[in-house]
Amino acid sequence: MKRQGLLDLNEAVQHPGTKLRFELTTALTEEEDLDLIEPVTGTMDVVSTGNILLLKGNYQATCVLECARCGEPINQKVEFWMNDEFIVEGVASGYGTGEYAEVVEEEDYPLFHKNALMKDTYLRQGLLVNLPVQPLCEFGWDGPCPKAQAREAKKQQEQLGHPAMQKLRELVETEED
Ligand SMILES: [Zn+2]
Repeated sequence: MKRQGLLDLNEAVQHPGTKLRFELTTALTEEEDLDLIEPVTGTMDVVSTGNILLLKGNYQATCVLECARCGEPINQKVEFWMNDEFIVEGVASGYGTGEYAEVVEEEDYPLFHKNALMKDTYLRQGLLVNLPVQPLCEFGWDGPCPKAQAREAKKQQEQLGHPAMQKLRELVETEED
């Protein structure tokens, strides 16, 4: 299991009602599918109700994406909120019963190790779902993007080279003869 980037939230889990605030930052260096220019940074507020651990944060990052129209790399700043709830089992030790509360780990997508949040995995998930589906460079969909125009011209050229089109041209040429 990945132990990197663990953020201990045990104090919040054992003391329901106690609000904790963390300044987070991660460069997600292990991620191959994400090219970050500026790391994910943000502030996360943590509080437990006793049964539920609430995480609320506002984050931002700058990553390199590909323009959906022309394929050129663009620097995209992404800002996003994350608002998550995790089920807590057991009685918080702060109640003095000698028991101990623990965040319930989700089997298919574990984000906790004991009461420590896998910060990198968590923030990566948040960033990925908040990336623009069709990022566009400065030319947008309709602007005079030279790359996009070159690509469209090439596509037309390729269509002209289609066998059916060639046959048509041959026919035209024979008739001209
Ligand atoms: Zn573009």
